[in-house]
Amino acid sequence: MNKSILIVDDDPDSRQILNKILKDDGYTPFLATNEKEAFQILSKVDIDLILLDINLGKVSGLEVCRQLKSTDEYKNIPIIAISVSHMEEDIVNALESGAIDYIVKPFYKKVLLTKIKSILSIKEKEEELIKLINQTTKHQKLLTQEAEFSKNLNQFLDMETKRNFIKEYFPDFLGARLFSIFIIDEEIRSFKLFVSNHPNLEYNLIVPIEKSTIMYDAIHKKEMIFIDDYSKSKYAKSHRKKYTTGIVCSIPLISGDRTIGVLNVNDPQYKDLEEYDFKGRILRISQHLAVSIHNTLLYEKVKDLSMRDSMTGLYNFRYFIDTLKKEIESAKKNHEALSCIMIDIDNFKEVNDNYGHQIGDMVLRELARSISLSVRSSDIPARYGGDEFIIILPKTSKTLAIRLANRLMSMFKNKEIRVPGTKEPIKVTLSMGISSFPEDTKDMDELIKIADAALYRAKNEGKNRIHVYSDAN
Ligand code: GH3
Ligand code: MG
Repeated sequence: MNKSILIVDDDPDSRQILNKILKDDGYTPFLATNEKEAFQILSKVDIDLILLDINLGKVSGLEVCRQLKSTDEYKNIPIIAISVSHMEEDIVNALESGAIDYIVKPFYKKVLLTKIKSILSIKEKEEELIKLINQTTKHQKLLTQEAEFSKNLNQFLDMETKRNFIKEYFPDFLGARLFSIFIIDEEIRSFKLFVSNHPNLEYNLIVPIEKSTIMYDAIHKKEMIFIDDYSKSKYAKSHRKKYTTGIVCSIPLISGDRTIGVLNVNDPQYKDLEEYDFKGRILRISQHLAVSIHNTLLYEKVKDLSMRDSMTGLYNFRYFIDTLKKEIESAKKNHEALSCIMIDIDNFKEVNDNYGHQIGDMVLRELARSISLSVRSSDIPARYGGDEFIIILPKTSKTLAIRLANRLMSMFKNKEIRVPGTKEPIKVTLSMGISSFPEDTKDMDELIKIADAALYRAKNEGKNRIHVYSDAN
């Protein structure tokens, strides 16, 4: 590489000789007769080495040397002092003022060039070393930040807190304008949105796996898909909306040997990170995220299992009681109504007697599934026990509860359940009792008792019907 060397000498002959020697050897020399000119050149050109005459006339070259060594900008430029003096004291002075070497005029051309060459080579090696140290320090800093992020991330096990933490800290940490994390739901072969800061993505967005080509590629190739200009990529074509984002990357979230989802990042701003560092960081972070989210999913699954009735999959009695308590408190606080529908299968013993307990179980499961599918998403259906179910209807008045119970009733009127191994479908009917907060009572136990009493009346009145509690009965 062509190196620039500044010659500072007030003697024109000396300057010209040095100029020629350096030019002939492939260097680019710059010439200054005094301190002022030297600093002017330095402010415009990146100088690699200075040849400085220490007898500069008015100003001592030693003084110039000290000045250069005291500025942050120029202190790393090696200076070779040139002088006619052989005196030991002058040499020592020059070296003490910051010169790296000393040459006595007249000098041998070869000696000068050899000195210049070796000093420049040492300087180059030093710069490489500094660069390497800086890189290592930067890398170390990145890893520490990532470890910190991961530690914080793993403080939380429950889904909601983890989601909020990621949403709050992730974009800034990564320097990404937009991000989204999707989780794979194998049962419905879809990506479910886990968390995102994208203003246009619905909270409960579900995308069939084959529909998102970029995420599909990420999970099948098991590697990061990095697109420099999304609008020009093959992936943009599959979108109806025009994408304005430039860089897009999708990274599979792999925990152990399972791909649990995908992290998407749009428009990363590398800040002080080079692209290389960004890719490294996003890959490392995706590993932290994958393990952490996977743990949360397992935790939620276990939590969910403890809330569910193992046979029907509906919420169990304990969850029902806890939830009813919370819902009543919320209804009280917000001055809202809440209703309960208690359901009991009519003559279920006969099903057991006629078909056996196992078939009875299948019928119970099928009814639980139908009830679960028939209620609104805000309703909470639970297995109360045996062949009894109860549905909590938050924010629901008695009038609305009756309408919903009637809808349910008509769905189950003469319901025929087909069970493998039986020729004829099994017919079942249901009886229901309704109670409402605060209309019938403000007490939770009382609310359940009233629904049960109403159900009892429905049975007594001939089954396959709804009874609504009122003061009259
Ligand atoms: P009714 O119309 O008065 O409700 O009559 P019923 O025959 O349904 O009687 P009841 O509700 O009093 O009894 C419920 C029966 O449901 C008793 C029990 O044999 C049966 N049962 C309860 N839990 C299970 C279960 O987990 N599996 C099966 N197969 N049967 C159950
Ligand atoms: Mg029954």
